[in-house]
Amino acid sequence: VSCVAALCGGVGGAKLALGLSRALQPEELTLIVNTGDDFEHLGLSISPDIDTVLYTLSGLADRERGWGRDDETWNFMTALGALGGETWFQLGDRDLATHVERSRRLAAGETLSSVTALLAARLGIGARIAPMSDDRVRTIVHTPDGPLSFQHYFVRERCAPRAVSISFDGADTARMSAAFAETLERRDLAAVIICPSNPYLSIDPILAVPGVRAALARIRAPRIAVSPIIGGEAVKGPTAKLMRELGVAVTSASIAAHYRGLIDVLVIEDTDASDAATVTRQGVACATAPTLMRTDEDKLALARTLLDLARTFRRDAA
Ligand code: GDP
Repeated sequence: VSCVAALCGGVGGAKLALGLSRALQPEELTLIVNTGDDFEHLGLSISPDIDTVLYTLSGLADRERGWGRDDETWNFMTALGALGGETWFQLGDRDLATHVERSRRLAAGETLSSVTALLAARLGIGARIAPMSDDRVRTIVHTPDGPLSFQHYFVRERCAPRAVSISFDGADTARMSAAFAETLERRDLAAVIICPSNPYLSIDPILAVPGVRAALARIRAPRIAVSPIIGGEAVKGPTAKLMRELGVAVTSASIAAHYRGLIDVLVIEDTDASDAATVTRQGVACATAPTLMRTDEDKLALARTLLDLARTFRRDAA
């Protein structure tokens, strides 16, 4: 057995995470998940990206909505609204159990890493799922009207405010989770994969944890990212809007430039093959593949393509 580490955020990342979990043996995969989106709400500790990965890998995710659990009911939300409580962040009844149990364990002194491992095991997931850090990191989106905490920006304001910059509160003193640090040091590490998550909101918080960039720069195994940009647009979510607001061209070349020094190869969509030259000009090798993941077969196929690429990639030849 060898080991593959994948860095991911929520929905876009979880799609590839599912493919990787089907292409590899459980003990071969470690998923490192963004916790910059985590927040405390209604007295609960909520980790949206970890939950998206947990629900996706356990087959419990709602496919239409794109977040939360399938077969959900909303009695709690309705009752809370009737009492005049805060309802801008939707919490389904089944989902609520995850937050209650996580909050209870964290309050009792367990780490987010151990709570996440326990939830994964309970949900029947074999792959290792670890938060990027057990320390508190909070993504802040700075707008012309002042700073917004991530969920206020993302959910309450539906990403409408213009982003001027993004910062990661607490990142400078956060430590990599033990699973993260240990995985990056493994001698049998066969690949590091950066999922097609939002680079600014989902991957940058992971890269902001001290030591992560240096560890990635040192790694000899192939480091492969999948571009979240297809045909000059994001598949979903605010990635393209953010890039425009931050003054970055909405292209895979920009993604390559963003990850320069941290990745060896950027995989872009087949139909964007004409962008390959602009990617390699950033000092990053480029591969093309079908990267739009609609079905579970698409996710598995992309995962297999990436693992093949990792097996055959020679850095000096790039
Ligand atoms: P969030 O935390 O829920 O916003 O999810 P992520 O940050 O993990 O993913 C959002 C990004 O995933 C967006 O930039 C999308 O363009 C990208 N994305 C979503 N689905 C796909 C897909 O099927 N293929 C590719 N290449 N990118 C995707």
